[in-house]
Order: sequence, then C-alpha cells, then structure tokens
Amino acid sequence: MTQNFDVIIIGAGVMGTSLAFHLSKRGLKPLLVEKNQVGFGATGSSSGLVRMHYDLKVESQLAWESFHYFKNWAEMVGGECGFRRTGFIHLEPAEQHHNLRANVEMQKGIGIKTEIITGADVKKLSPSFYTDDIEIAAYEPESGYADATLTANSFLTAAKKLGAVFMQDCEVIGSQISHGAVTGIRTSRGDFFAPIVINAAGAWAGKISEMFEYPIQLSTWTHDVLHIRRPANVEEHLTVIDMQRGLYFRPDTGNLTLVALTDDSRFGESPDAERHYVEKDFVERAIERVIGRVPALEQGSLHSTHVGRDSLTKDQRAIIGKAGPEGYYLVTGFSGTGFKISPAVGLCMSELIVDGEAKTIDVSGFDPKRFERGEILKGEFDYGFIWGNEPNA
Ligand SMILES: Cc1cc2nc3c(=O)[nH]c(=O)nc-3n(C[C@H](O)[C@H](O)[C@H](O)COP(=O)(O)OP(=O)(O)OC[C@H]3O[C@@H](n4cnc5c(N)ncnc54)[C@H](O)[C@@H]3O)c2cc1C
Repeated sequence: MTQNFDVIIIGAGVMGTSLAFHLSKRGLKPLLVEKNQVGFGATGSSSGLVRMHYDLKVESQLAWESFHYFKNWAEMVGGECGFRRTGFIHLEPAEQHHNLRANVEMQKGIGIKTEIITGADVKKLSPSFYTDDIEIAAYEPESGYADATLTANSFLTAAKKLGAVFMQDCEVIGSQISHGAVTGIRTSRGDFFAPIVINAAGAWAGKISEMFEYPIQLSTWTHDVLHIRRPANVEEHLTVIDMQRGLYFRPDTGNLTLVALTDDSRFGESPDAERHYVEKDFVERAIERVIGRVPALEQGSLHSTHVGRDSLTKDQRAIIGKAGPEGYYLVTGFSGTGFKISPAVGLCMSELIVDGEAKTIDVSGFDPKRFERGEILKGEFDYGFIWGNEPNA
C-alpha cells in the first residue's frame, strides 16, 4: 500500500468521515486513520438531535446547511443517515424570552423554517405534554433526529467510493514535521505521509495536538443518557430542548424516548476514563424531570442507559481552522453539539483546504487561536452556556 496521500485525517467520527467524503469529492486522496473503529468516540453515543436553534448565528448557518444533507441524504451522500422528522421545540425560562424571539428572527433571516408558538400550540402537536408553564416556544416543524453512527458510516462508504483510504485499529503515536511544515504521521501501523494533516480526534485531540507542537486547551464533557419505553398513551412526540426544566428528550425507534439532562454533565474526565456507568441518581433525576413535562411517561419503563464523551472548549464552541506547523488543521472541540453540523463542517473545511477559504459559510470565527487572544465566541442574544460553567475553565 502506498504511504503517500494528499491529506491525512485523524479520527473516524462524524467529523473525520465527513472530511474524508468532502475532500475526496474535491479530487484529493485522503487517508483516514482511526485507533479503534468508526464511531468509537462521541459519535457512537450521540443523541443525534438535528435542529437549527442556536444563539450563535454561524452555528445556525452550519446546522441549516447540514440539514439539507440530512433531509436529502441518499442523493447528496448515499446510504442512510436515519433522519426522522418529528418537529422540534426549544423552551427557555421567561427571562430569556426576549432572546428566544430575537434568535428565531435571526434564524428566519438565514432561511430556516422556524416560528414562535404558544403552549396551546405545543399541546396540539404533542397532546401528552404538560404545557401550563409554557408561554412560548421556538418551533421548527422540519427538525428531528438522525443516527450518528449510520451517518459516519455512510460518509465513510461514500468517501471510499471516491478514492479515500480508511485504516482502522491504526493509532497515531507521533507527527512528522520538517522545516516548520507537516509531512506526515507515525502510527501503530507504520508511517504515512501527506503535506496536510487534520486533527479530528474528538476528546483525544488535545493529545494529538501536542504531537504536532501546538498545545490546545481542550477539556472533556461526559454525558449520561437514558431510554424509556413509552406507554401506549404517549404518542411519538416532538423533539425537545427544555431549558425551563434542564433536559432534552426525543422519540426513538421501538417506542422509546431518549432523555438527558443539560445541567448534569461531568467536565474534565480523562478521554480514556471508563464510560460504562451513568452517575448515581442520574436515572432518578432524569425520570423526575421528563415526567414533569410528559406526565404519562410515569407508566413507562426504563429501557437502558449509556454514557458518552466529547471534547469541550472554554466557550463550548468548536475549534476549526489552521494553526501550528504549516499544513496542520484542527476540527475539534464540538462540546456536545457537533453531530448536526458535521456535513457543513466537512464541506467548509474542504473549501478552506482546496480553495484557500470557506465559501459556503465563513467559519473563521472558530479560529483555534481565539483563546490565545483572550476571545470567546458568544451569540448576540446569548443564553449562556448550554451545559453550565465548567468549574476550572
Ligand atoms: C452523549 C452525547 C450526546 C450528544 N448528542 C448530540 C446531539 O443530540 N446533537 C448533536 O449535534 N451533537 C450531539 N453530541 C455531540 C456530537 O456527537 C459530537 O460533537 C460529534 O460526534 C463529535 O464528532 P468527532 O468526529 O469530532 O469526534 P469523535 O466521534 O469522538 O471521533 C474522534 C475519533 O478519533 C479517534 N482517535 C482518537 N485518538 C486517536 C489516535 N491517536 N489515532 C487514531 N484515532 C484516534 C477516536 O477513536 C474517535 O473515533 C453528543 C455527544 C455525546 C457524547
């Protein structure tokens, strides 16, 4: 096998596989290396929400561009991504309603199908919900969820058809740099060469970046999730982010409902710490909160729990762009919200690499060097950090 490529991508999550797809579409020959298998990291445990509601415009733009892929997956990528339209609402406490309205206007300006609806409207959409405490909600009729592992696998299959090479069980253990420019990687399966290396190693990206002599401040976000089997009197409901009650939930296949909390994540664990067990009391807390919103779920039964971990930055926003030695790029730090923007991130990065700038959406705000300059990314009508403040950030 040849050891020379146009570009090497480290990590086969949704980002690495999206990059492999978009770069091979642009005529480059990428090598994608993965130390385990596709979806081993955050991707394999993602809740898969697909919505456009953000308080940072560029994230809504990336989500909207990506939405066209999720909706037209077979034509635009091939294979399946498991997208299911359920409709989506985003709820905020009363003190954020001004911002909620302003963000819906900002999103409409992008072209996103969204509107403000009332609690009575929510009740019509999901009759099992308790809505007496809902004054307004941001509503996206076309949003829903998709399957992150299927998405990554479809990206990979399409990339391979276009000439990309994939090596699993291939751990990056070092870099190759000459005269200030990247020349390749050292791995558990030998050395490979390319003038461009993209670090898409998720929670492990900090370790990789040290190998490339560009240390980054990257923490981790560990997140517990459960599935409840719905009783017959609860419909296949909306997908919901409920910041009034600190949870999100969505339907899943097999009459299940996925539930997780927004204020319950753990920060700063080792990327390699075990991921087998949810925190003590998580199940009780999550069930109590979801029953507050969907009372009839009390007659449901616990189906399963799982734990996932993503990379986390100081402003809980991605790191995308060029830094360190010539030819070195970072696509990481997705802070628990990267899945839904992965198609557009791959597209914009392919433009940055091939054309010299991201033309579809300007992603320069995600510059890896912003933290060195003491800057953080914040929306104009800011809700604050979705996952709460990291104690040591
Ligand atoms: C529980 C949970 C729920 C989430 N829910 C949502 C959601 O509802 N909606 C949403 O948009 N986002 C969600 N996210 C976030 C989203 O899933 C992630 O942002 C996204 O999957 C990150 O993808 P990635 O490719 O950057 O990283 P990862 O999927 O973590 O991939 C990185 C890969 O790099 C590999 N790697 C690491 N080190 C090396 C090495 N030395 N050599 C080779 N390979 C290496 C790893 O094995 C891994 O496979 C959630 C995340 C979690 C954990």
